[in-house]
Amino acid sequence: MSFPHAHLLGIEPLAPGDITAILDLAEEYVALNRSAAKHRDVLAGLTQINMFFEASTRTQASFELAGKRLGADVMNMAMQASSLKKGETLIDTALTLNAMHPDLLVVRHPHSGAVDLLAQKVRCAVLNAGDGRHEHPTQALLDALTIRRAKGRLHRLSIAICGDIAHSRVARSNILLLGKMENRVRLVGPPTLMPAGIAEFGVEVFDDMKAGLEGVDVVMMLRLQRERMDGGFIPSEREYYHRYGLDAEKLAYAKEDAIVMHPGPMNRGVEIDGEIADDINRSVIQDQVEMGVAVRMAAMTLLAEGLRARRAA
Ligand code: ASP
Repeated sequence: MSFPHAHLLGIEPLAPGDITAILDLAEEYVALNRSAAKHRDVLAGLTQINMFFEASTRTQASFELAGKRLGADVMNMAMQASSLKKGETLIDTALTLNAMHPDLLVVRHPHSGAVDLLAQKVRCAVLNAGDGRHEHPTQALLDALTIRRAKGRLHRLSIAICGDIAHSRVARSNILLLGKMENRVRLVGPPTLMPAGIAEFGVEVFDDMKAGLEGVDVVMMLRLQRERMDGGFIPSEREYYHRYGLDAEKLAYAKEDAIVMHPGPMNRGVEIDGEIADDINRSVIQDQVEMGVAVRMAAMTLLAEGLRARRAA
């Protein structure tokens, strides 16, 4: 299996075959993760450093577990409490890290493009764990695996991505991935939360939930990204829930077997009704978390293979 990329910085540079390669390998890891002995030595001897400059629960835990299950030496750096507070630049941090000889660097950063910049300065494989509003590739990959398992395929599906599109790296990576795999993507949300020029991405845009959800196979809800808003994007959370929150009435417009997704963390009663989120017949939110570990194991395996091959050359 060959993966022709030195880093996983986004979905944008990936070909459909690269996406399928990651998902197919992740399937094997889903089985491993469900077995009693969850350990392989695929990354033995390699050092994985997780650098999160922005808070994370699921993603950081998932990358840590993924590395440990594959035998890497995993270190978490608490970047919020680090020398960045003392004024160190991202490039200085990169050079410091380089001197420690990491093999896999997992980075989350509040600025779009920061992870790409870092990747240019280090001699190891870099995985983007979310940069600003730009990309969150492993999230889109785990979403794709969840959809493929629930629907039996990852093409010619109708998928509605709903809510705060403008501030969401999850939306951006999903739009790119689902488009590459030839699905029909609809974006549903208030015009204030829709990025300018979005129609160029080959998506359909709706500002009404019922029209947007009509007949879709997948309903993907997004969190309101309060931390990235600097003004009045929505009238009030109550009003937002009324118009855009996923409840049983709005979900009834989707296909009868439509699945409900959310990347987490969820704001219950803001973008999604708690009962729907917990409904095991509709919601695959916990499956997304499970697929997250497997997809990260797969991505790190493929990058490590390339790294070893380049070093041996
Ligand atoms: N956890 C996802 C992210 O980091 C989604 C979110 O925060 O709303 O982008």
